[in-house]
Amino acid sequence: MSGSAAWPDATGHFGPYGGRFVPETLVHALDQLTSEYARARSDPAFEQELAATLRDFAGRPTPLQLAPRFSEQAGCRVFLKREDLLHTGAHKINNTVGQCLLACRMGKPRVIAETGAGQHGVATAAAAARFGLECTVYMGCEDARRQHLNVERMKLLGAEVREVDAGSRTLKDAINEALRDWVTRVRDTHYVLGSVLGPHPFPMMVRDFHRVIGEEARTQFAAQAGGLPDVLVACVGGGSNAIGLFHAFLGDARVRKVGVEAGGLGLASGKHAARIPEHSVGVLHGTRTLVLQDDHGMIRETHSISAGLDYPALGPEHAWLADQGLAEYSIATDQEALDAFQALSRLEGILPALETAHALAWVLREGGKLGRDARVVVNLSGRGDKDVNEVLRVLGKTG
Ligand SMILES: *Cc1c(COP(=O)(O)O)cnc(C)c1O
Repeated sequence: MSGSAAWPDATGHFGPYGGRFVPETLVHALDQLTSEYARARSDPAFEQELAATLRDFAGRPTPLQLAPRFSEQAGCRVFLKREDLLHTGAHKINNTVGQCLLACRMGKPRVIAETGAGQHGVATAAAAARFGLECTVYMGCEDARRQHLNVERMKLLGAEVREVDAGSRTLKDAINEALRDWVTRVRDTHYVLGSVLGPHPFPMMVRDFHRVIGEEARTQFAAQAGGLPDVLVACVGGGSNAIGLFHAFLGDARVRKVGVEAGGLGLASGKHAARIPEHSVGVLHGTRTLVLQDDHGMIRETHSISAGLDYPALGPEHAWLADQGLAEYSIATDQEALDAFQALSRLEGILPALETAHALAWVLREGGKLGRDARVVVNLSGRGDKDVNEVLRVLGKTG
């Protein structure tokens, strides 16, 4: 297990970030989850079932693949960690499988989840079906309209989809509703939170379930290329795929870790989801972290071409890594992501998710400065089939 993780502390803090900001009624459930999780991680039977499910159901290990033609264009050597090949199309299944197994251990027959674009909802519905759990997914009705296919996928997988008609009718509102549901049915329900966000122990637990990405990449890179990569790059919404890649390398200071946030229409436009540049600390959905808020502490509307990066709060561990200088953060705009989406598709025969395209965009922009011999591992967090309509719409508009 993740023995090298020195944080969070016992109360779930990453320095000044993290912790638990929840109604009294959830404290017991979070305590129970924390202790059951610790027990599970020291139980060989749990580790065995998790590993077997990740292998046979989800498709681990995922390949690490040199991308020769993309490398040529980027001006450095690019390796892709192919999380896009996992069942349901993204890294998210690593976490939902782990949490559904925990729900079974806790004797909870029902799981709930929030979803923005629908990817986490689909991954939760699939894992719930696999383990025979009842599943309810909350989704903003604006998101449900934009991602109709994912709504139907969840229903076919046996989940109930509850559309949320409040606020901006998107992810933030779906999380509010899921938390409300959990408060009322906490005895028989586990909340499968979808990123390294929310109250302790979620940021730690979700990170641990994704840590396998970096562990595999480390071994695969040593075997294929020798030694350690120079740079790791991943897109950052809440931050789960990035932390999953980074964590196994945190002890290696000479491996640069770059997280790429959604620059949207550019920082100056205000229409983006880049939390690091403003460095504004607040509390959202149970955790203290960097958030996009106005002068009165009201959460701001965010914008990104990719629904998975379009969220106002950053995972608390990323805020801590940034402050410590243990990872660095940058942005890619909608346009840069779109260009990178097309580049990878044409050069390597892989349609990346628009979220992932932000990480690829950073490599296209900065690769030349790294140099021809620099070895860069990009976390290819998901596949782009879900984004075809959006890409066509935007390309049609911009010519
Ligand atoms: C959900 C999603 C993300 C963003 O979530 P993180 O927690 O930041 O990883 C990134 N890429 C893909 C493909 C996703 O589905």
